[in-house]
This record gives sequence, structure tokens and C-alpha cells, in this order.
Amino acid sequence: MRRTVHGDLMPELPEVETVRRGLAPVMEGAVITLAEVNRPNLRWFLPERMAERLTGRRVIGLRRRSKYILADLDSDETLLIHLGMSGRMLISGVMLGQFHHSHPAPQKHDHVVLHMDSGARITFNDARRFGAMDLMPTGGAHPLLVGLGPEPFGNDFNGPYLEGRIKSRRTPIKSALLDQRIVAGLGNIYVCETLYRARISPLTLAGDLAESAAHGLVPIIREVLAEAIEAGGSSLRDFRQANGELGYFSNQFQVYGREGEPCETLGCMGTIARTVQSGRSSFWCPVCQR
Ligand SMILES: [Zn+2]
Repeated sequence: MRRTVHGDLMPELPEVETVRRGLAPVMEGAVITLAEVNRPNLRWFLPERMAERLTGRRVIGLRRRSKYILADLDSDETLLIHLGMSGRMLISGVMLGQFHHSHPAPQKHDHVVLHMDSGARITFNDARRFGAMDLMPTGGAHPLLVGLGPEPFGNDFNGPYLEGRIKSRRTPIKSALLDQRIVAGLGNIYVCETLYRARISPLTLAGDLAESAAHGLVPIIREVLAEAIEAGGSSLRDFRQANGELGYFSNQFQVYGREGEPCETLGCMGTIARTVQSGRSSFWCPVCQR
């Protein structure tokens, strides 16, 4: 049995990609007729004259890099969006599926509101303000993006690359996979799920992994992320029918959050354990993960 975990979790690559896919139909090609910026800062200060620099600009494309959404504008600037812990992007005022969502009244924590010429309104709501937005030259460097490792689905991320990056490391494989300089976008949940599926203990030192095991992690990481993106797509359709809200969605995990439950691996009699590593919980099966 799998179970669904709802929670206030840090979005990882699949969640951010889901939000990007939800926003693309109402943002790509549309003009921001009015940008409202309701406070000077989120996690950091918002860029100078942000509302002026967004208003009147057409969104040429919506990309994702790691856990960041990047909206390329026709002004040769790119709007960088980071959801942080509690950031949500809400869409209102457009036909979503067969349901029409009227514009809700502004709410507390509606920090940035983008009115699109399509009639859509996109609201960034973030109660805890760990999120971030910034403007950068399109194609330019941004401090949050500099030094990020390759995208998990990109050609630069492959077996020999990963093996080369971890073979001399004396840190646990768990920490190595969380290192954004090695691979971008993975967080605690999907690293736990990946190591479970690979049957590798999160405590194994990265440098002790056999070459074949290191190579084998690449397709497993992609599989875990692709399944989560697919689940996000389903949840997105549900959300659209519910209230047009994009952001966190429930997901199905095999080990994450399942301490004390039986291991799902066929024939394994183990019980899922939780071990704290570098201050974060690792969920794993001590019997089948070696
Ligand atoms: Zn097991």
C-alpha cells in the first residue's frame, strides 16, 4: 500500500516543474498589463522599480532551472521566481478546464499580482516569505543560479559524470545527491526515494559506491522525478478543478514519511527507519538498502 503525504514541504524539481506547466498556458505569449508589487521584500529585497519593469512586458517563454521558474520578457529581462517553503502561484479569471474562476478578493500575503492581457490574474502568495523574486538580464548570470550542477534530465548528467563527481567524496551518498553543485533540483524527499529504489543505504559513503552503482543512479533519479512530475500533472488537473491554485500537491512516496511501516520491496521483511543526517531525516529500509 502506498499512502499520500500532504505537507508543508520544500518544493523540489517536480513541484516547481508542475507549477511551471500550470502557469505556461496563461503566461506564455501574454502581456503583463499591470504588475502590483505590494511589499519591498520577500526573503530578500525585490528588484528596484519591479512593477514598472514588468508592466507592459510580454512573456516570451517560461523556463525552469533547478527549483527556479524563469519568465523571459520581451525587455531582455527575465523574472526569476522561487517558491521557497510556502510560496503559491494562484491563477484566477480564466477558463481552466470547464470551470471558470472569478477573481478572488485580495488576501493577506498576496505579495505580487500580475494582471495578464488574457484576463488571467497570477498571484504570488507567500505567508512565510521564504520565497524570492528578482529580475536579471536574460541569458545573464544570477547569484542563485551560478554554480548549479546539471539538470537531472539533461545530457550533461550521466553515469560517468556522476561517478566522477562522487568517487573521491568521503560524505554519505545522501549528502552528495543533495549537493546542488553535483546535480540541480534534488531535495530530501526525492533523494530518499531514489536511494530506496537503488537499494543503496543513505549512510554509504559516496566514494565507496561501485562504479556500476553510481552509473545506475542516473536513470533511477530520472525515473523518480518523472513519476513525480506525472503525479503533479494529475494533481494540477485536480487543482484546476478545485480552485485554480498551483503549488503544493499531494504525492505518493515509498519511504519518505513512512517510518515504522513495512518495506514495500517484494520479499523484504524490513521496516522503514528514519535516521537524521546533517539535520535532515533520511527514510530508508535498513534491510534492503545496503
Ligand atoms: Zn526493504
